[in-house]
Amino acid sequence: MSEKPDGEGGGSEEGDGESFRYQMEVSDQECPVCGRKALRVYGRVDEIPHFGRVLEQFIQCEACGYRISDVMCLEERDPAEYRYRVNSPDDVKVRVIRSPSGFLEIPELGVKVRPGPAAEGFVSNVEGVLRRIKAHVRMAAKWADREEARERAREILDRIEAALSGEDEITLVLKDPYGHSAIVPEDEEKLEVRRLEEDEVRRLRSLILRGSLQGRETF
Ligand SMILES: [Zn+2]
Repeated sequence: MSEKPDGEGGGSEEGDGESFRYQMEVSDQECPVCGRKALRVYGRVDEIPHFGRVLEQFIQCEACGYRISDVMCLEERDPAEYRYRVNSPDDVKVRVIRSPSGFLEIPELGVKVRPGPAAEGFVSNVEGVLRRIKAHVRMAAKWADREEARERAREILDRIEAALSGEDEITLVLKDPYGHSAIVPEDEEKLEVRRLEEDEVRRLRSLILRGSLQGRETF
């Protein structure tokens, strides 16, 4: 499924054909990238099976194309950890809701993506999440000055591919101390969900705060 509003003007539609419920111009705010007052907000409420209602929002600059997305869970939910075993090509379609307070991890590969101030919320699927993680890994490899780091990046990318083709297995972990993120497969056989302990909730919330102070999404 597409993750951005593609249309302009009336009847903006997403790739899956569902229309955005509202669109508005935000004429009093400047775009953080180009400084023009050309921001537009798109939003809609979606009902996600086995999860509940979520509000998806996109802010897009009509002038330079800058775009940021957000997703907010409209139901009250417990802080939770979702663990999903990825070991088959069918797993790419499994729904993932990642709010800006969601921590993503692949423990087997030592991959951790912590929320930062630029963290985006999105409704996607396992394929979309792994695509984002692969982009992070490639970026890290590009800036790495040691050959070992580049080799490790290649290994991570290979193992993600192997898991998606069913030749290997990785675990996708999503923790959210505010309960706004989830992995929602139709078949729950490969899913484990547990409520986060109070001290974990406190620790993750303080990491979010620290991430905002650091000014970047840590990987
Ligand atoms: Zn702009």
